[in-house]
Amino acid sequence: MTTAPSSLIDGKAIAAQVRADVATGVASLTASHNIVPGLAVVLVGEDPASQVYVRNKGKQTIECGMRSIEHKLAADTNQADLLALVASLNQDKEVHGILVQLPLPDHIDEKLVIESIDPAKDVDGFHPINVGRLSSGEDALTPCTPAGSIILLKSVQQDLSGMNAVIVGRSNIVGKPMAQLLLRENCTVTIAHSRTRDLADVVRAADIVIAAVGRPEMIRGDWIKPGAIVIDVGINRVPGAESGKTKLVGDVAFAEAAEVAGAITPVPGGVGPMTIACLLSNALQAAKTSVGA
Ligand code: NDP
Repeated sequence: MTTAPSSLIDGKAIAAQVRADVATGVASLTASHNIVPGLAVVLVGEDPASQVYVRNKGKQTIECGMRSIEHKLAADTNQADLLALVASLNQDKEVHGILVQLPLPDHIDEKLVIESIDPAKDVDGFHPINVGRLSSGEDALTPCTPAGSIILLKSVQQDLSGMNAVIVGRSNIVGKPMAQLLLRENCTVTIAHSRTRDLADVVRAADIVIAAVGRPEMIRGDWIKPGAIVIDVGINRVPGAESGKTKLVGDVAFAEAAEVAGAITPVPGGVGPMTIACLLSNALQAAKTSVGA
């Protein structure tokens, strides 16, 4: 490891740099090809957390010089209408990226909706074509949270080759694509999950720990190998110190782990800001690909 013990990985600052790079890329694409990248976000229903995400995405899209197109649909929107909207966005030449905010209401088949998005505009990287391309090592639009986590890791150590990486969590949006990206970086990758035996020992062997479980502070300080890099993807809202107040914590017991780790992401201010920054980067990439730039 090249870092001093317990250095904090500043996701906010690194995300700001990614967004600045996207803004530069947008300006240069507009100058060379006379197009403004357009990112369409579709929100179905009124889930408060999703509304906050969508608002932030729209704001940051505009700040990067891109066009933000928002479609807010009622919670009882039927599946056929949503599919028709996606089909029209697929055809729209001014739309280069399409994101359908998940989760969708129960009466809508999420998989069907994801598969209806043009893979070339699939800025979330969830379409099976992009999933397949990623796993076969081809160019693909890559899921944003894992892509952001790789940037954070490389801010600590540029060459990850040969490192032992343990990912806790095997979801399609975080754990599995994270494994593909770490393989691409020549890590030796283990994916742990709820059926993994002796999880603490598995994590203790890791030079890199990616926590994507959704269980507050489950990964304890004594699970962390001294000097390891810890990326905490988890976002969990728990009761705060003051009664009636809540706070956000990750899947890692931060104070304990920071005593041992070489470098660690905080929650909030670690992986979270990287997700939108990488989404904007994907939208730029999709726009560039659309004109062969
Ligand atoms: P999922 O619920 O889809 O997946 C959780 C994974 O954790 C599953 O693979 C599950 O195993 C595993 N798991 C659950 N309990 C245990 C346990 N006791 N021991 C070991 N493994 C366990 O979650 P997501 O991947 O969608 O999200 C994970 C976390 O990351 C959440 O806190 C979420 O809020 C956060 N997140 C943050 C983002 C960001 O922008 N920073 C973006 C996306 C997610 P199994 O498969 O066996 O059930």
